Amino acid sequence: MCGIIGYVGKKNAINILIQSLEALEYRGYDSAGIAYGTCNRIEIIKTSGKIKNLKNKINPDIHSNIGIGHTRWATHGRPNDLNAHPHKIGKFTIVHNGIIENSETLKKLLIKENYKFKSETDSEVIAGLLDKLYSEKNDILNVLKQLKKLLIGSYALGILCDDIPGTIYAVRKDSPLIIGISDEGNFIASDVPAILKYTKKYMLLRSNEIAEINDKITVYNEKLEPINKEILIFDGNLEDAEKNGFDPFMVKEIYEEPKVIKETITPLLKFGMESLNDSFPNFKKYNKIQIIGCGSAYHAGLIGKSLIEKYGDMPVSVEVASEFRYQKVFLDKKTLVILISQSGETADTMASLRKVKELNIDTLAIVNVLSSSIAREADNVVYTKAGPEISVATTKAYLAQITILSLIALDIAYCKKIINDEKANQIIKSFEDLSKIIKEMIEIDYQDIAKDLYKHQTCFYIGRGIDYALSMEGSLKLKEISYINSICYPAGELKHGTISLIEDGTPVIAVITDKKIADKTISNIKEVKSRGAFVILIINDNIKVETEVADKIIRIPTTNDFTQSIITAIPLQLIGYETAKLLGRDIDKPKNLAKSVTVE
Ligand code: GLU
Repeated sequence: MCGIIGYVGKKNAINILIQSLEALEYRGYDSAGIAYGTCNRIEIIKTSGKIKNLKNKINPDIHSNIGIGHTRWATHGRPNDLNAHPHKIGKFTIVHNGIIENSETLKKLLIKENYKFKSETDSEVIAGLLDKLYSEKNDILNVLKQLKKLLIGSYALGILCDDIPGTIYAVRKDSPLIIGISDEGNFIASDVPAILKYTKKYMLLRSNEIAEINDKITVYNEKLEPINKEILIFDGNLEDAEKNGFDPFMVKEIYEEPKVIKETITPLLKFGMESLNDSFPNFKKYNKIQIIGCGSAYHAGLIGKSLIEKYGDMPVSVEVASEFRYQKVFLDKKTLVILISQSGETADTMASLRKVKELNIDTLAIVNVLSSSIAREADNVVYTKAGPEISVATTKAYLAQITILSLIALDIAYCKKIINDEKANQIIKSFEDLSKIIKEMIEIDYQDIAKDLYKHQTCFYIGRGIDYALSMEGSLKLKEISYINSICYPAGELKHGTISLIEDGTPVIAVITDKKIADKTISNIKEVKSRGAFVILIINDNIKVETEVADKIIRIPTTNDFTQSIITAIPLQLIGYETAKLLGRDIDKPKNLAKSVTVE
């Protein structure tokens, strides 16, 4: 969510700040700004709206070797010029990502000390507090240590102090921030893609550390002792984070899906069931699984539940992280908690992880971003090998999540001897064949379906069991990028109220991959059809259905339960995309949404 960048070095900081902010655009934002040092002064340029507005305000002749930049996703105060970051009070200029929960209390205290605030943000108070602490004790490291004790909430902070020109300070808690290293200068950034144009070398900044960045990088622990930090090399390339002729990123990312699935399964299935078994915790230790995620990750969890319960014969609960974190927990030591997050920084999922860890319950994270907070703090981690996902609406990372969950179901079923070697090998083979089928599904033309949808205000998705889980994601995809009000229901539940919303021509997208309950869903389709619905049916090619049942039918190649959802997700993603395209939406950056939701 939003982005932070900072640069100090030999090159012109202004260009680097702008380019890096553009690389962070995908995270979602509503305003942007930079602060840079020049002739012993800090200049701030900021604006609401897009980075191009910011560029228009910047004099191209300015030159500076140090600066911090920010894209804001407003939490406190409207997205206007004044609330945009950076904020400066006294000697301190800051950019902040996160939420300061006690900002009102701190603000009142500072107002009593004659501090004045210009913005409505919770962030400006940090600049005031830093200035006050520094005026009492002229020792920046101690000031930052004290600041961390006083702030409640989440933060990644880039800080400039007038008295220490040429140095950027950085601290964080529950919001992401890394330190980039290059021969021509050093960086702070919300994530690696922001600095990939300049360097692949980076360090992780931990919550208890303080970073001091100039021509050297010094990281201090909570006792303010300098510590040695491991230098990591980003395992990916800039191309992964660039469009490469595709536009928007969402299409590029859908086209990458065959490769992503291959890369996700290859290390897990290298030596068949043996390597699969080694990649996961020993499921024999558990008699229950709790899955936690937000948005699409939650929907992936519902697919996991369906497969693990059916094949692994183990009860699975799935909960939205923002609910789970405040619920009473009834889990015991025989439960494994699986946390799913693309970014590995999702604030609610992170809080849920910490909550279960306090109870000493085992955890497994399924995340995409290497060494992200959730990946580091969970007991076990399995990576979705999706590479950088730039489009806010997830496609390839979701597909990789359901792939891993399907493999977990397979592993549990195998460990419990519910399926034998022969069957397991057949299923492994079907995973290996997936890339080809996914490619074929991507090549189908979904524009025709989109033409039936894009003029409508409301649309329904229905399915039963695992098809309901798939429909939930299909419905989310459509509404998040096209802004059509799309409602997803278990097919049998419509008649308990919602069917009254079906009118002549209302689009209903029905998903049927489970042959055993196909007839039940077909009956539900007939119910809506007889009330005027325009039905688009996505169905396996081995399930017989009369053509009159639906107005349009998309046939899906039949595989097996473990891989079927992975294939069926593709048309659902592309229908959302094609519809949003017809409506001329900003597909990669839907309004009000952010990629990595690092606030609660
Ligand atoms: N809470 C701060 C604000 O509303 C920072 C939001 C962000 O992370 O961009 O300004």
